[in-house]
Amino acid sequence: MMARVTEDQAEPAALPPRPPYALRGRLLTPIAAGGTHHEPDGVVVVDDAGLIAHVGGWAAWDAAGRPGRASGAVHDVRPWLILPGLVDLHAHLPQIPNSGLGSGLHLLDWLERYIFPLERSFDAATASVVAPAAFAAMARAGTTTAVLYGAAWPDSLEAAFAVAERHGIRAVIGKVMMDRFTYRDLPPERRLDTELRESAELCERWHGRDGGRLMYAFSPRFAVSCTAELLRESADLARSTGAYWQTHLSEDRNELAEVARLFPDARDYLDVYDRAGALGPRTILAHAIHLSDREIARLAETGSRIAHCPESNLFLASGAMRLARYRAAGLIVGLGSDVAAGPSLSIFSVMRAGAYTHDLIRVTSEPGGAGGMPSFGPLDWLRLGTLDGARALGIDDRIGSLEPGKEADLIVIDHALTAPLPGLEVSSPEQLVSRLVFRSHPAMVRGAWVRGRLLPADPPEGGPVGP
Ligand SMILES: [Zn+2]
Repeated sequence: MMARVTEDQAEPAALPPRPPYALRGRLLTPIAAGGTHHEPDGVVVVDDAGLIAHVGGWAAWDAAGRPGRASGAVHDVRPWLILPGLVDLHAHLPQIPNSGLGSGLHLLDWLERYIFPLERSFDAATASVVAPAAFAAMARAGTTTAVLYGAAWPDSLEAAFAVAERHGIRAVIGKVMMDRFTYRDLPPERRLDTELRESAELCERWHGRDGGRLMYAFSPRFAVSCTAELLRESADLARSTGAYWQTHLSEDRNELAEVARLFPDARDYLDVYDRAGALGPRTILAHAIHLSDREIARLAETGSRIAHCPESNLFLASGAMRLARYRAAGLIVGLGSDVAAGPSLSIFSVMRAGAYTHDLIRVTSEPGGAGGMPSFGPLDWLRLGTLDGARALGIDDRIGSLEPGKEADLIVIDHALTAPLPGLEVSSPEQLVSRLVFRSHPAMVRGAWVRGRLLPADPPEGGPVGP
């Protein structure tokens, strides 16, 4: 994690831990107005509040008298790449220890065999051991914003939020809510009130903490685990508090059949959530694979957000989400790792799975090849994993790209590690990102910052972590 400090040797020769500073390196970012900004020798200036004061080419900035520099040192990370931090729209904190286990099972069996026992044992003590390791692993993967489900136990959520507050990651977290198909040992008549009360208390304590860096999401697991009352009342709570509402939608065929059995009056899966008044721009729905045209149109009409989790969908053989179809319908879609149904915390790995999935749909859905369907290039995937994730959360005015006035959520990457042979480097933006996506290296992310503050990325001491 060493970088040169070329001038003002006030800082030690390391990545800057806190603002203000300027980072000099190869710079690449999507731009909110469209397109990509690439500077082979660029600079990002972070002011003392952790906001981006300037982004541009090094030579022009230097010649202009280094505007916005304040008193910070210049840290030279060349030839590394500077990118916006990645946004993981969907992951499960308690499940991380079982990542990569249980392939070949369908969703409902996998939940009972691999996940419910793990979540059941995720108490506060376990959370306070797993969460620091998890947030460090996310920083090493380049994730600066994570949208997470916790377990059912409120004190484990307290612990997770407290760790996130100390660590510095930007996080949306929610207690998983279940008042049927649950691992909680509560009499049925007490489940609904308990779930609502515990979630409301957590939301009140944590939503908006640290100037909005920490946020709350009411998180019913999915329709199979929830009564109509829990869905409706949790959506009411999200609306009245301004928090998010997140759940799973249409992931697996067996799940769809179970939802149809449990909610016989609903016209389709989405209608279960629609009847609860739960759709809208603060709602994040994961997977959304097996949808009818009606459901897609209704999602677009309500402005609901989609967390596309292609690596998870391949791992559990759930299906292939039609990304091009959804984008053509106007849906706002970001990327989710869905750990531990997704085996990796890396959003670059999710991009790779998404690209393969999309290309397979293209070549198999149209006779004679992929004529009419758009292709998504590496820069499209980078945008999906950064700025589009921020849009899905409604915070793209604050994060998601390297543009002046935004909060400095950024990462640096040693892209030389992605070369197939030493020294075989590329330089165009498309080729650089293509290597990050298709030849990701686990050590390529060398630093991650939120609001200009370096996130701890080293595994905590003390050996293996797990419940
Ligand atoms: Zn999930």
